[in-house]
Formats: sequence, structure tokens, C-alpha cells
Amino acid sequence: MGRLIVISNRVAVPNVDQAQAGGLAVALNDALSTYGGLWLGWSGQTVEGATTLPHIVTKGNVAYALLDLTPEDYAEYYNGFANRTLWPLFHYRLDMAEFDRVNYQTYLKVNTFFATALLSLLQPDDIIWVHDYHLIPLGQELRRLGVTQRIGLFMHTPFPALEIMLTLPSHARLVQSMSAYDVVGFQTINDLRSFLDYVTQEANGKVETDGTVFMGKRTVRAAVFAIGLDAESMATEAVHSFHTPSVQRLQRTLHGRALLIGVDRLDYSKGIPERLRAYARFLERHPSFRKKVTFLQISPVSRGDVPEYRRLRRTLEQEAGRINGQYGEPDWVPVRYVSKGYKRATLAGYYRTASVAVITPLRDGMNLVAKEFVVAQNADSPGVLVLSRFAGAAHELDAALLVNPYDVDDVADAMARALSMPLEERIARWNQMHKIITTNTLSHWCENFLTVLRGDESVVSA
Ligand code: UDP
Repeated sequence: MGRLIVISNRVAVPNVDQAQAGGLAVALNDALSTYGGLWLGWSGQTVEGATTLPHIVTKGNVAYALLDLTPEDYAEYYNGFANRTLWPLFHYRLDMAEFDRVNYQTYLKVNTFFATALLSLLQPDDIIWVHDYHLIPLGQELRRLGVTQRIGLFMHTPFPALEIMLTLPSHARLVQSMSAYDVVGFQTINDLRSFLDYVTQEANGKVETDGTVFMGKRTVRAAVFAIGLDAESMATEAVHSFHTPSVQRLQRTLHGRALLIGVDRLDYSKGIPERLRAYARFLERHPSFRKKVTFLQISPVSRGDVPEYRRLRRTLEQEAGRINGQYGEPDWVPVRYVSKGYKRATLAGYYRTASVAVITPLRDGMNLVAKEFVVAQNADSPGVLVLSRFAGAAHELDAALLVNPYDVDDVADAMARALSMPLEERIARWNQMHKIITTNTLSHWCENFLTVLRGDESVVSA
């Protein structure tokens, strides 16, 4: 069997502190060491005069090919087109999306740069797996350079509805470039449908019922591959972490109050200010819960050099301060807001401590925190998940209390309902969600995608 080539914006080189590694990095590294292969992407460094000659680090049968970017490329490709155009647009934030031709040209240029760098490292029976919105045109660039190996793309973000996509000035070229792939994977049926709508209504393509897509002269398999967790290790971590000093300290400071928890990278797609407003509405409309609950919002800063993210941080600080000022008492702080990140193992203990998780993104590709919260629970008395219907995870976790994150009253009522839910109902809902999460794990996701990419099996769904 041929080698696996993974290409993503960033490369996760395994290091001594594996506890810090994200689940996806671990799963991809597992797949890479199973088949042998190469992971290529940006090193995280910017240098003047960056070249297509990657720095190679070898670990066992896996090579990590790290490319530097110039400061201009970083500003225009990464902070520019990827994070100020595609990210907001794909998360339905037209109000935040900026369209700039220079950024788009640099995005294309960096995709060509990655493709050129990979070319000399490729072997004839390799298969290539490209990840996410940073690298959509990469497949086409590889084809232009004569690559004939099978290439797949997985979109971790949502794929926006047709009318949203049409607002992108370069939509035609961008979506057309997806025809270069043999397989294109999405998180949910909605994302797949949006892509197929585009293909049939804008790109003059055809779609068969098994998910085969005809675009121009190419045939593409388009399918859903909902990403999962390493559920077993998360559950084990939660049991262990529950008794560690830092989690015990949190428990002691609650003084018997029920904990509501939110954990999200600081990002406007996560609906954090809206969530805090919903919590304020909950305290206003359900005064019997005052002094009986604590809301812990953990939001590590991300993309701190993009101005929208700095503004969001200020908004959150103000919102948390306003709630504490309005409802707090000398012996009760309604909201604890922290802007630093925690290891997943520590989070697992916090999840297990919480009675309710409030995960209310305005739009999210999947939302792994929702799944992590569920597997971290104690089966005898599980906490309740309040989940946005606009998170990809809601497609599988329909036994959560699904809410509209734009509707402050709906979210406030769901908080009250979650805190009052009888044990029997909590267990029934949790069992349903737990079964799904422990069946569709991260390694299943990886294997499913690779099986279709290798052309070993007919497509999963359409
Ligand atoms: N996470 C973490 N430490 C933190 C906050 C989050 O390790 O302080 C992890 C979290 O456990 C989850 C991931 O970051 O695995 C976030 O994934 P998700 O799909 O929820 O959102 P994304 O950040 O990818 O949009």
C-alpha cells in the first residue's frame, strides 16, 4: 500500500510533550505511522526569502516537511485571505468578511508554493490528503504540475450555503478548483448539500445519487465524514483528572453550586457574547437560580493579531464584568471568565465537574468540545449538553438540548431546563449521545476517509 501524504496549513511534529497535542494531530500521526509517509505544511516561522525547499524532520517512517513563509505571505495568505475572508464567510459572517485581490493572489501563490515544494518529495503510489480552507486550490495546483496520484480534501469548517458563497468575488475559481480532487469530504450533510447546490446551480455540474459529482472533465466523490474523538482516552482522562488538585480546587470553590461551563477558542463564530447575554437573561428570568450557579467560560486567545479578535476579547471582558456587577454579591461571582488555555486533560476534569455545558456557536464545522463534554461525564449522573443547532455536532447529538444561539430567551430557558432535568432524562439523553460518539471515533473517521480516498469502497453518503 502506498504512503500517505498529509498537507495542512500547520504541521504537528510529535514532540516530547505529547499531552499538548490536539486529537487530530494524534490521529493523523497514527495514520502516517501506519502507512509511512510525509506531512507537509507551514513551519510557523516567517523569514524573508522563504524557499520551496522544506526543512525535513524524520521520526520513524514519517517525514515532516516544514516550509517557512515570508512575512508578506503570512499577512496576506494566512491572516488575510484565509482568516479574514474565507473563515468569516464560511461561518456565515458576511459582515466580517473582507475581500481583497492582493490577499487572494497571495493565497493562490502560497498554494502553488506548497504544491511545488511537495512535487520533488512525491512517490508514484502515494495518496495525498489535503486539509481545510487554507489549501482548497492545492489539488488543482498539483494537477497543473502533472500529479496523477489520488488526492482528497477534507473541509473542517462549514461549507456555506450557495447565496453566501456567491458573495466571494473569486467563488467560481475557488469552487471549480475542487474538481481537481478525487474525494471531497464534509462534516455534515448540510455542508455537502451546499457544495452540491453550488455544483449543480453555478458550476454546470451533475450529481448522482451516490455522491459522484461530475464537474468539467473530472469526477469527484463528495461525501460526509463527521469528525470524532479518541473517546476512550478522553473518558479515562476525565476520571483521572477529576481527582487532581487543580480540578479539586475548582470543585471546592463552587461551595455546592452547580457549574455551567463554556469552552471555546476566542472566536466570533463561537457565539460567546451572545451566550453570556443568555446567561444574564437566565439570571433575570429565573431568580431562584441566583447564588446557586456559577458560569465558567474558558476562552483562550486565538489569532490575536487579527483586529476582530482583539475587539471580541474586549467585548467579552465587558459583558462578564457587566453581569458580575449587576447580579453578583460579595459572596457570589456569577461569571468566571478566563482567557488562557488549559490542557485537554484538565478540561476533562472540569467537564466532569460541570452540571451543564453551554456550547452555542453561531456556526461551527463540528465542535469537538461538545463531544468531549459528553464522554467526560459520569454515567450515573451525567451533565446536560445545551448545544447550538448550528454546530456540526448537532447533526449527531440531537439528544442534546438544541438551541438557536441567536435567541437569547431560548438559550436562557434551556439553561433552566438543563439545571432542573430529572436524572432519568439526563441518563437517557446521555446514553444516546455517548453511543454515537464512542462509535464514530476519530480513528474511524480517518480510516473511512482513507478507504474512500484509496478507492477501496463505494462512497459513504450523499
Ligand atoms: N482546547 C484545549 N484547551 C483549551 C480550550 C480548548 O485543549 O483551553 C481544545 C478542546 O479540548 C478541543 C479543541 O481545543 O479539542 C477545540 O476544538 P473545537 O472543534 O471545539 O473548536 P475549534 O477550536 O477547532 O474551532
